Amino acid sequence: MKIAIIGAGYGGMAAAWDLKKAGHDVTIFESANYVGGLASGFKEPHWDWSVEKFYHHWFQSDSEMLGLIRELGLADKVMFPRPLTVMLYKNKWYPFDSILNALRFPGLGFGLNKIRFGFVGLFLRLTNNWQALEKVTAHEWMLKYAGKQVYEQMWQPLLIGKFASFYKDVNMAWLWARMHARTTRLGTFEGGFQNFSDLFAEKLREQRVEIRLGVSIKSIKRDQASGSLSVDGESFDKVLVTTSPNLTAKLCPELPENYLKGLLELKSMGAVVMTLSLKHSLSKDGFYWFNVPKEEGYPFLALVEHTNFVSSEHFGGDHIIYAGDYLEVGHEYFSLSDAELLEKFIPAFQKFNPEFSRDWIKKIWVHKTNYAQPIPLVNHSKNVPAIQTPIDGLYFASMSQVYPWDRGTNFAVEIGRKAARMMVV
Ligand SMILES: Cc1cc2nc3c(=O)[nH]c(=O)nc-3n(C[C@H](O)[C@H](O)[C@H](O)COP(=O)(O)OP(=O)(O)OC[C@H]3O[C@@H](n4cnc5c(N)ncnc54)[C@H](O)[C@@H]3O)c2cc1C
Repeated sequence: MKIAIIGAGYGGMAAAWDLKKAGHDVTIFESANYVGGLASGFKEPHWDWSVEKFYHHWFQSDSEMLGLIRELGLADKVMFPRPLTVMLYKNKWYPFDSILNALRFPGLGFGLNKIRFGFVGLFLRLTNNWQALEKVTAHEWMLKYAGKQVYEQMWQPLLIGKFASFYKDVNMAWLWARMHARTTRLGTFEGGFQNFSDLFAEKLREQRVEIRLGVSIKSIKRDQASGSLSVDGESFDKVLVTTSPNLTAKLCPELPENYLKGLLELKSMGAVVMTLSLKHSLSKDGFYWFNVPKEEGYPFLALVEHTNFVSSEHFGGDHIIYAGDYLEVGHEYFSLSDAELLEKFIPAFQKFNPEFSRDWIKKIWVHKTNYAQPIPLVNHSKNVPAIQTPIDGLYFASMSQVYPWDRGTNFAVEIGRKAARMMVV
């Protein structure tokens, strides 16, 4: 078959790998001039490694991702350093990267709260019954089982940070998926995620997958006479779309009304992430990931010192930090200039290190996306669009369909490969 894939993110590239191996003729169309999609990165001339536009790491439980890397013969380039994740309590940062540290965390109070926190964590780790958990919101479930103090200290800030005004609407299966499938050890790829994406693209090209960069597809139509699908006028037997549900609806207006309605009704958050290269390290204690309580007046949700995860040697001695936030599309951060956003962030950087001053900043970059985090509401499984669309030969695989899992490169690989299997039967 002659197959087109729209998007050279991890989902599209993983599908291409399997479709090519199954003997098909595969072309990937990618609107950007590079591969990697949301996990792509960028590099300064004096850096050996790239940094991701949106901070990325893998979990040890990312079996689909790590399995694919092994299959590509690149496993020796995966590394799992031991970075420190911290949580704020009464103006002090505490390690929060192991069960023991979580139990030591003073924000959980004493006795009963710690026991409830421990039991809730254990239950979510052990149960596989997410179907029961999607019937209730995370807000209600955690208040009931973890209790007010644990919820308000631990889970409410995460929900508010990630989902803003939707925070009380997100279902408990979302939180289950995070606790069930994630590990505290975090991994990355030698040279950065972009290096992995480029090596993957190279392997695809060696297999004679055609990757057309800088080509933004405008429409996918059925050709009634031949039964094939026309991708901007070029004919294919089958097409896999890996863009957001909104873009997919625009690309394929011939989809039946109820499928289109399903795509357009899905909710998601956008993200704005600022990356800064600094002359000095921001965290005096070598912390990597600061869980920032936005409700305490911080202008972002996560502060990540990337060079406390991988060495600043890879960046010519620059210290790299990210300040990122998940935001509703239309939030003012989407329209502010980079300089205006920096003015909002600078006072917060001083809270992490009072010595920080603007002359530490060598350069900043701001990356924005409207589609960063799907929002799973109660009984969300009924709203997940089918991978095989009602149009014969047209398939759709995106972050919005990896549910009950939370979006991530691991699940992009999984759904891309699943779509590939469906396309060849
Ligand atoms: C802030 C943030 C932090 C994240 N952190 C992590 C993390 O730590 N670990 C992790 O594993 N995952 C993380 N993720 C999630 C991860 O990036 C995604 O789950 C994954 O990259 C999605 O891959 P995909 O192939 O489904 O989609 P995408 O990567 O979005 O790929 C879709 C591709 O389609 C292309 N495209 C769109 N329209 C067209 C068109 N008309 N024509 C041609 N091409 C088109 C796009 O340019 C894009 O390259 C994070 C995401 C964000 C936003």
